Amino acid sequence: MTKLQIEDIVSLSKRRGFVFQASEIYGGLSGFYDYGPLGVELVNNIKQLWWEHFVQRQDNVFGVDGATIQHPELWRASGHLSGFSDPMVEDTLNHKRYRADQLAGVDTTDLKELALLLKGKKSPDGNPLSEPRQFNLMMQTWVGSVEDEAAKVYLRPETAGAIFTNFLNVKETMRAKLPFGIAQIGKAFRNEISPRDFIFRVRELEQMELQYFIYPDDQQEAYEQWRQFAWHFLVDILGVNETSLSWHKHSQKERAHYAKAAHDIYFDFPFGAKELWGTHNRSDFDLSSHAKFSNKDLSILDESSGQKTIPYVIESSVGVGRLLLTVLSDAFSRDKVGGEERIVLKLKPSVAPYKIAVSPLLKNKPELVTFARKLYEELKQEFLMVLWDDNGNIGKRYRRQDEIGTPFCITVDFDSLKDRSVTIRDRDTTKQIRVRADNVASTLKPRLH
Ligand code: ATP
Repeated sequence: MTKLQIEDIVSLSKRRGFVFQASEIYGGLSGFYDYGPLGVELVNNIKQLWWEHFVQRQDNVFGVDGATIQHPELWRASGHLSGFSDPMVEDTLNHKRYRADQLAGVDTTDLKELALLLKGKKSPDGNPLSEPRQFNLMMQTWVGSVEDEAAKVYLRPETAGAIFTNFLNVKETMRAKLPFGIAQIGKAFRNEISPRDFIFRVRELEQMELQYFIYPDDQQEAYEQWRQFAWHFLVDILGVNETSLSWHKHSQKERAHYAKAAHDIYFDFPFGAKELWGTHNRSDFDLSSHAKFSNKDLSILDESSGQKTIPYVIESSVGVGRLLLTVLSDAFSRDKVGGEERIVLKLKPSVAPYKIAVSPLLKNKPELVTFARKLYEELKQEFLMVLWDDNGNIGKRYRRQDEIGTPFCITVDFDSLKDRSVTIRDRDTTKQIRVRADNVASTLKPRLH
């Protein structure tokens, strides 16, 4: 079987309306993408499942939706203004910029080490390279009508900021007691030096983050709990093949100075195994730092010891786009049907953009169309994401639905007019069964999870 290439995903995404280059008619903008009609459904399904499992089904996790722009002091306290940077080198002739660690093929941000490794190396265009230096990834803008230092603000580089600043608000309004979590889904912005690998590394991203506040004594248990929960979500809820996932434990060099432990889940993307989802033990760094910079007491009373303590934080953080790319790459399959190669997205029905497609065998036979249309309307009431497809011949319709991952196709033919039966075709096996039109909904309902 030919190995999946990222170009296969890019081409399917464009051909079928999952992902488009942002501002495509103007030549695109590097690091920015738009989701098309199918992409937005898939992404919404992924986000909804995450929200259901990380928030709604938990009894001690609460959601927030913070502003994208926050007080700049927040980013001073979090360390982003001084330290949110990647090592960069520049081609000294054409001034193209590259991530120094990526050019050197190592996982370090240490400038001295990178300078040694890159000594004498040329840029991808064959020109001499500059010395590595740190490049801050924060995107800045201004609020108000005067563009001066006092009005300078930043687009958030991660969603976690508004979770920490709302710690007291959520604790008080929800009468929350440790351990409890605050979760958020939202956009973040990073001025990545070299956006690449399609939607894997972009400049406008969306994150799903949970910060779980605990007593320091519970750190090991909570860390393991959320690490395993992320894996379980990927495998059991999204249906990602476990053999494509692996753990990557951060070495001390890779970890942020405050982090006590960090594990990433890597996925075997078509361009190699790379970070998909991080679980970090952030210690009491965030709340301590925000307490210091804001002059507010962010400690809580530990009822068992009677002492005041700053909670520790376990963070679970994943990018929505990387998850979309994971789900698409994992589901992408090629097989042969009737001697012809087909592309099929073997998506879990709960994730698939459309659940059912309904077709009349021939679109110019009014009696078939009327029958099929009625069934379509009924199914749409029940399942919402039902597609009417009468374009081209039936073989072409099946190919199209396979490519967008529609689990079931229903066809109304001449026998339907005699005995009210229709065919239901299964996307993965291509097997067809005949069911009475009145029983289609009850037959499919249990299979659409
Ligand atoms: P990387 O090492 O790949 O730059 P990171 O370690 O900086 O990522 P975090 O700050 O831990 O990433 O962000 C949490 C999650 O957000 C990542 O696991 C990833 O899924 C997603 N993410 C981070 N940066 C980007 C980006 N530029 N484009 C798309 N997703 C991203």
